[in-house]
Amino acid sequence: MNRILVLLTTTLLLGLRLLAHSDAEIGPNGGRIVEFSQNESLHGEVTLKDGFFHVALLDHQMKPVAIGTQVLNVAGGDRKAPQKPTVTVKDGHFVFPVLKGDEYPLVLQLRPTANAKPITARFTYDSAVCGKCKQQEWLCGCKH
Ligand SMILES: [Zn+2]
Repeated sequence: MNRILVLLTTTLLLGLRLLAHSDAEIGPNGGRIVEFSQNESLHGEVTLKDGFFHVALLDHQMKPVAIGTQVLNVAGGDRKAPQKPTVTVKDGHFVFPVLKGDEYPLVLQLRPTANAKPITARFTYDSAVCGKCKQQEWLCGCKH
């Protein structure tokens, strides 16, 4: 009995995890939402403009959060030779250049202050266009 319960719970959790990973959450500015907290109190919204990724910080109500002491580090691209693009702050967003390739993982590490422990968010950039919403796959909120 207990074993069946454990199996059921595990299956449910795996199912939920798969669901959470297959659909992008889209933010108020059409960007990809990433989590920068354990309790949904801080999100990032990633948009792409003129060859640069922009990362805005949003609070639990998806309202903008000013960038102050926070530090963002980015790694990604080819898994065998990951790149670490330089991140700057511009117009209240973190900004970094796109990497080579049409599809690659991005790892975003946000520290509340330079010496604090980072919160890590990951997503896969995929420039293929969704046939349904005509957005790039990394910005597609369709349920596939
Ligand atoms: Zn779509």
